[in-house]
Amino acid sequence: MALVHNLGFPRIGAKRELKFAQEGFWKGASSADQLLSTAKLIRAANWQQQADLDLVPVGDFSLYDQVLDMSFTLGNLPARVQGLEGSELDRYFRVARGRSAQDSDCNSVHAGEMTKWFDTNYHYIVPEVTADTRFSLNPERILTQLAEAQIQLGLAKAKPVIIGPVTYLWLSKAKDGSDPLALLDQLLPVYSALLEQLADAGVAWVQIDEPILVTDLDTRWKQAFEHAYHTLKANRPQVLVATYFGTLQDNLQLACNLPVAGLHIDGVRGREEVTKVVDWLPGHKVLSIGAVDGRNIWKTDLKRVLDWLEPVAAKLGDRLWLAPSCSLLHVPVDLESEVSGDEDKPATLDSELIRWLAFARQKLVEVQLLGRAVNEGREAVAEQLADNQAAITSRRLSERVHNRSVKAGVGGVTSGFGQRQSAYAQRAAKQAERLKLPLYPTTTIGSFPQTAEIRKARLAYKKHELSEADYQTQMKAEIERAVLEQEKLGLDLLVHGEAERNDMVEYFGEQLEGYAFSRFGWVQSYGSRCVKPPILFGDISRPEPMTVAWTQFAQSLTDKPMKGMLTGPVTILNWSFVRDDQPRKESCMQLALAIRQEVQDLEAAGVHVIQIDEAALREGLPLRRSEWQHYLDWAVNCFRISANGVSDETQIHTHMCYSEFNDIIESIARMDADVITIETSRSDMELLDVFEAFEYPNEIGPGVYDIHSPNIPSVEQMVSLMSKAAERIPAERLWVNPDCGLKTRQWAEVIPALENMVAAARILRLQT
Ligand code: GLN
Ligand code: ZN
Repeated sequence: MALVHNLGFPRIGAKRELKFAQEGFWKGASSADQLLSTAKLIRAANWQQQADLDLVPVGDFSLYDQVLDMSFTLGNLPARVQGLEGSELDRYFRVARGRSAQDSDCNSVHAGEMTKWFDTNYHYIVPEVTADTRFSLNPERILTQLAEAQIQLGLAKAKPVIIGPVTYLWLSKAKDGSDPLALLDQLLPVYSALLEQLADAGVAWVQIDEPILVTDLDTRWKQAFEHAYHTLKANRPQVLVATYFGTLQDNLQLACNLPVAGLHIDGVRGREEVTKVVDWLPGHKVLSIGAVDGRNIWKTDLKRVLDWLEPVAAKLGDRLWLAPSCSLLHVPVDLESEVSGDEDKPATLDSELIRWLAFARQKLVEVQLLGRAVNEGREAVAEQLADNQAAITSRRLSERVHNRSVKAGVGGVTSGFGQRQSAYAQRAAKQAERLKLPLYPTTTIGSFPQTAEIRKARLAYKKHELSEADYQTQMKAEIERAVLEQEKLGLDLLVHGEAERNDMVEYFGEQLEGYAFSRFGWVQSYGSRCVKPPILFGDISRPEPMTVAWTQFAQSLTDKPMKGMLTGPVTILNWSFVRDDQPRKESCMQLALAIRQEVQDLEAAGVHVIQIDEAALREGLPLRRSEWQHYLDWAVNCFRISANGVSDETQIHTHMCYSEFNDIIESIARMDADVITIETSRSDMELLDVFEAFEYPNEIGPGVYDIHSPNIPSVEQMVSLMSKAAERIPAERLWVNPDCGLKTRQWAEVIPALENMVAAARILRLQT
């Protein structure tokens, strides 16, 4: 009999109950008890929904982040919060969120660093260590959750989930430059003690997540795995080592031979490795196969999975477990919420689309169906399988998914599409002649403050309480305000301010054919922050221009050049749930063609500078280095196709809000944007070193104003930053601009900051 289980369930609640409880508590509007009781209710509801599984994850729930939880379990708090007054919960949130000196008490504590969890859009709090770090067991959180689960589910089903020791150290950052791996021998006794306590509490299985097994590991890290699990093997509970998000490749034998009772592998992304693992895995071990995609929202083609799974099941017999590919943290909670709308929130997905989708709850049903089909034969679930097949077929054949003219458009792409008329130097001369910009031209990244009035108007418009005409009038007034302010400030290249945009991806998705939007499809990004990725379900086309009228309106208000503002194809792709029936690059190419049409329409409408944001280009890098080049090749190609259908006189900008270009500088150069604006203000311009070393040939706007902070940068600061930039990049190729868009700031902060920025540019011009 194959067992069915789950690796982790979303913790935000079907209606984001956790978010509201967290934020209420942080604001002081509700008590710790209220937060903790909401958390308990969510856990109970989650277990309720998983009760039919053979093993249910426990300890996957978190009040903020599972890596931070692990740091607390291991007694590894940053020194700056140790010994602070207040409860454990206070200390926990202080590491998570920091606390500024403006708070009621004067314990100013900065937040732990946050970074992306592998290739997901989930962010964890990076554990901090030093050579002197000492760990101590603090099992209370997990034991409490275990006790709750035991009451609700009985002991047999509860399977605690923890992050493994090797992955934990790999995620850690040494504050003193020491080697986190050197702490392994310090750490293992704490894991041993934890496993023993879990065994004492009566659990049979513990899931230990070691996702770094799907990344490139050097010998030291490989040896660390052997050492760690040989040490932990003396402990009583049976251990399932869980890997996910990719393939094991050269770690396959290592993973198979660890002295543990079972291994979980990602059977979606690592489908082609399953047979190999089955062959390598010693005969006494359980193999858990993640056969349902935990990273996407599509219904599983159960028949197709069973076709490859049944022979595997026949080989493994009782040793087979079935699960989603990874924790369901990365998908929304429940598709049921999308089915019927109400007045406040009308349904947004039609029944046909809903039929093609599966969220966390639905994915668990799929795992169970697979389990029954394997254990009792397909006949036992014949009706459900037929239903599933009908949905899969309807999606496969749908004309909403397959649009002939889009496919023909992609088929007609030639290498000329990605080619500008002339090389940068010639273009730059023509652009300079047309734009007549001064040295050190000033500009902004696109958005101006999204004020409460703007948000209110948009909400009212969406609820049909504000007419289209009134909404347009109000947005135009906002655009006018932004243009007037920029003229007053004396900026050289203006923007319209993006008042009409809710979000840089959603705004375009809503106007493109082939995109859909859920109402409650929230996924945790970090802490209480959730995102609702749009669903790219079909071939992408652009029925009509998306930004031209707004940009033209803005241009009509000023004699200064106006920059058209678009989101690039790679970023739109990387921030969406995408199709699983064609390669990502295929969808990206369709997006590129749609953006290209928009670029060309803007140009035809007299917009001579167009910015195409690629904020998420770097995020799409695969986990394995060997796959980087392939990704970068098609990503850069898609950007070029979107951008390069214009004449030499039209200036193309791109923007990226990060600063790690070391390993991708060659690709950035291949994008060949006339101007690139990047985030640099916090790094003292050192990040330009790589552009200098590469002899990056085009223009660069290194951000001089940290828009994440309410601080107003001084003229001197900005002059000094730009002078450092000019040591690395010739002044003729430098722009002066903020790090990113200003939508999260207040006008009262933006105006003085930009005044200083313009003043800094004037000083710089006099100095040269
Ligand atoms: N043009 C966008 C803005 O200014 C860019 C945002 C981003 O890069 N994240 O808001
Ligand atoms: Zn940005």
